[in-house]
Amino acid sequence: TAIRPRPLVAGNWKMNGLVLGVNEFDAIATGVAAREVGRAEVLICPPFTLISRFAAAAAGQHIKIGAQDCHPKSSGAHTGDVSAEMVKDAGASYVIVGHSERRVCYGESDALVRSKAEAARRAGLVAIICIGETQAEREAGRTIDVVGTQLAGSLPAGATGANTVIAYEPVWAIGTGLTPTVDDVKVVHDFIRSRLVEALEGEGHELRILYGGSVKPSNAAELMAVDNVDGALVGGASLKATDFLGIAAAY
Ligand code: PGA
Repeated sequence: TAIRPRPLVAGNWKMNGLVLGVNEFDAIATGVAAREVGRAEVLICPPFTLISRFAAAAAGQHIKIGAQDCHPKSSGAHTGDVSAEMVKDAGASYVIVGHSERRVCYGESDALVRSKAEAARRAGLVAIICIGETQAEREAGRTIDVVGTQLAGSLPAGATGANTVIAYEPVWAIGTGLTPTVDDVKVVHDFIRSRLVEALEGEGHELRILYGGSVKPSNAAELMAVDNVDGALVGGASLKATDFLGIAAAY
């Protein structure tokens, strides 16, 4: 079996964080600098408004900064949108694309998510492409089908371990405190790995596959022990430094 890639533990702050929240970020950055975390690469994705501030604070440190979305175009008449170039310019190195909250609230299609991932690559950012089934899809036994379709439609040609990360996030596990069993996580992550290797050959082993959805300090270790789980995408628990550092320590 292939050597596992370096894990990535990513915090998605969603629409949370004012300038005052910098204290929590500083506590996370301090913990990472003090090697309170394992061998994982650690990333925080704050709202756009905090990216430059956090990137400045993170300069010369090990913690990375990312955005939660980008527009597929690099500039132009797109009121309210932010391009991957702008995200990069603000000091970020990652961007989340296709989070289920955007797929649901803004009807983002796989094709749009793929074009955002391509924009990220053009700008020199690493794209974290989110996929995952709803509760109804799982109950209908369609999890593998849905995840396979989303992956095929959202993954850009020529993706590499250096420019692309996949995040498997069952929609019903996000913010609910529910998680799939480790056996269920293994089935989906093994499936994603096999599809990546089919699409990208040997390079398919290099892409990190994160699990997301109600990751907490108490379940991080058992999730990380699952084959083909190469890190976590953490929502709610990334807003508290002690929780987020506790999760990162397991990876
Ligand atoms: P959660 O969110 O950790 O709060 O469940 C995960 C996500 O939406 O990325």
